[in-house]
Amino acid sequence: MGLAHAHSVTLSGIQGQVVEVEADVGPGVPGVALVGLPDTALNESRDRIKAAFVNSMIEWPRRRVTINLSPASLRKSGSHFDLAIAATLLAADGTVPSTRLHRTALLGELALDGRVRAVRGVLPATLAAAQAGLTRVVVPRDNVREARLVRDVEVVPVTTAAGLLAWLRGAEPEDDGPAPEPVAADPAHAPDLSDVAGQQQARFALEVAASGGHHVFLLGPPGGGKTMLAERLPGLLPALTDQESLEVSAIHSVAGILPAGQPLVSSPPFRAPHHSATMPALLGGGGGGSIRPGEISLAHRGTLFLDEAPEFDRRTLDALRQPLESGSVVVSRAAGEARFPARVVLVLAANPCPCGGAQTIGGVCECTSLQRRRYLHRMSGPLLDRVDLRLTVYAATRAELLDDLVRGESTALVAQRVAAARERMERRLAGTPWRTNAEVPGRELRNRFAVPAAARAVLSPAVERGALSARGVDRVLRVAWTLADLAGVDVPTADETARALSLRVDDLRRVDVDVRSSRPLDAAARAALGGRRA
Ligand SMILES: [Zn+2]
Repeated sequence: MGLAHAHSVTLSGIQGQVVEVEADVGPGVPGVALVGLPDTALNESRDRIKAAFVNSMIEWPRRRVTINLSPASLRKSGSHFDLAIAATLLAADGTVPSTRLHRTALLGELALDGRVRAVRGVLPATLAAAQAGLTRVVVPRDNVREARLVRDVEVVPVTTAAGLLAWLRGAEPEDDGPAPEPVAADPAHAPDLSDVAGQQQARFALEVAASGGHHVFLLGPPGGGKTMLAERLPGLLPALTDQESLEVSAIHSVAGILPAGQPLVSSPPFRAPHHSATMPALLGGGGGGSIRPGEISLAHRGTLFLDEAPEFDRRTLDALRQPLESGSVVVSRAAGEARFPARVVLVLAANPCPCGGAQTIGGVCECTSLQRRRYLHRMSGPLLDRVDLRLTVYAATRAELLDDLVRGESTALVAQRVAAARERMERRLAGTPWRTNAEVPGRELRNRFAVPAAARAVLSPAVERGALSARGVDRVLRVAWTLADLAGVDVPTADETARALSLRVDDLRRVDVDVRSSRPLDAAARAALGGRRA
């Protein structure tokens, strides 16, 4: 009686901090007061708990109870404090003993009828509780599998306010409930690279992208296979480590999209938001008391695919630059600030013109040259500066489609080479802040990771003709390093730089010319090599 306390967790991004919930019974008008920077949702919490108690035949305190959430300086948001507040109230009023609240965090929202509702963010909240030395979490039954991913923490499922009361009084915990339907994740049905007919160059570009973490720009007509290719990139990326799996799952937990039956995200995610996606949808945000991760964070450690990239809001596209650079995104809202991880391989895709008719077999394009140029220029230079691989994708020719022999290698086979290349890369980059070649800054490509002059010389004609800018050179060299890692050589040779050059179109202004002449863009790159075959 008198004082009681329990714990809950507040989240900022995927970082949780343990909050102490204290209840004090004192003199004064009967009722419950909440102090300690509660936001609107927290004040509503009192009303929900009261209704839940009444509907569960649990007595509401008939004395003055002050609930304090501390540290007071910490902004606390979310409806998941209901259970901790309810438990503290019951203990302070003497309705239940406080023994089971010792070193226990409670997470969950109460419905007016007394049911306990699932909440977002249970995985990162449980991780934070464990890190803070708590040994037990009480969670809504629908979140129980997610909480159980955290080792060395006892997880107690609850379904109702009455169930919570019974458990606090010493009853056995409720069971986990029926196992939810597992989500189909049959590897036999994952998109495989061997399904892509022809497309040698594009398939190889995916291998390079997955190896070096390079962003990709695919230019080509509708139906040319851009989406099909992009969907196959996650399968080539390195498998997630246990730590990465938890990190990605925590982001999906905060977004509220973890499937209850299979709460661990164990393979690199693939996200393909529509071009009507808003800035908050893509980068993170949202109203109310909580900040949700955007698509770029949901794609963390996987692939973010923006099809019809020029159709996206230009400001939204530009806002991707900072997260692409730093690997994380900071979202500021009235509710506070949150940082979410955002290390992705970005795939941008675009039709050569706004009508989409150019380059399709039998297609007619009525766009003017100016319209085409404007269309592609809607993607800003600074964004494209971060994209190391740029290539055109054509629909496979009939000959390719008919010839079963050109069916390419399987995802599993290519992924093996990617893994080997990553290993070489990680050995070389050990002790640096970078994990992939794509992250290495330009100045380091001229100093610590300089490419031998003989290999660089291949680029000279293109530089002299003005076809390759200084930044363009950096991008070619980054890709050359990845090609060296794939080839198993210690430093890039002329072969690697030449091939790297063939995997890019430096200037989108040239695209228009190439689209009209229906000439593969790589021919321009090959010309830059002075006829040398890449
Ligand atoms: Zn057109």
